[in-house]
Amino acid sequence: MDKRTFLKVGSIAGVGVIATPLVSTLLGCGRAPGPTEPSADNSTSGFTLPELGFAFDALEPAVDQETMRIHHGKHHAGYVRKLNAALTNHPLSGQSLEAVLAALTASDTGLRNNGGGHFNHALFWKVLSPAEAHNDKADLLAERIQTSFGGHEAMLEALTKAAGTRFGSGWAWLVQDANEPDRLFVASTPNQDNPLMTGIVESDVQGRPILGIDVWEHAYYLNYQNRRTDYVTAVLSRINWKAVAGLMA
Ligand code: MN
Repeated sequence: MDKRTFLKVGSIAGVGVIATPLVSTLLGCGRAPGPTEPSADNSTSGFTLPELGFAFDALEPAVDQETMRIHHGKHHAGYVRKLNAALTNHPLSGQSLEAVLAALTASDTGLRNNGGGHFNHALFWKVLSPAEAHNDKADLLAERIQTSFGGHEAMLEALTKAAGTRFGSGWAWLVQDANEPDRLFVASTPNQDNPLMTGIVESDVQGRPILGIDVWEHAYYLNYQNRRTDYVTAVLSRINWKAVAGLMA
């Protein structure tokens, strides 16, 4: 990784570069596969599919069991498998997912789609809650939402709008400003892009993603068909705000 990329990655981690873990570490994403050499410990080689942390049917009726099973076991698993294949014996071997994503350019199609796909889904599973949403957010997150949006409802409205107006496939995000940690903002990206792809997404989208909503049709079509807003509203009622707070720098 060159110096410029290193600085970008440091910037994404926020002011607490050393003290604050990378989001991908908190999500259990793993690291890029290392060089192929005999090793007693294969467990550190390659990105891994994180466990859901709840049963496939735990989000019903907001998200149905069959969608969860396919989404985690087929879609997400596929992104991880293709990401590892693309990074085997690659100059970025052994790096964090943040480092890989920050190093991408628009021509790195495979790494962009599968690296983004891995991070984005790991984040999505982490912030979903099998219980009805509870607004007992950690105090610091609640404060930051208040100062950034004027209130919880306004933040939810901004997320719903971003998710609803994203044309085609993509994601809506709640993002922490890397340079101004008290500032949170809402953004959206197409396909599997995300705010960590500093070489690809616009500067006003870049930052530390702490909540992501998948608006690809594979995330909701079985249950909602074309009713994306109904799906987004249901998902926003199942957010684990404590988990979101735990991902902030
Ligand atoms: Mn998805």
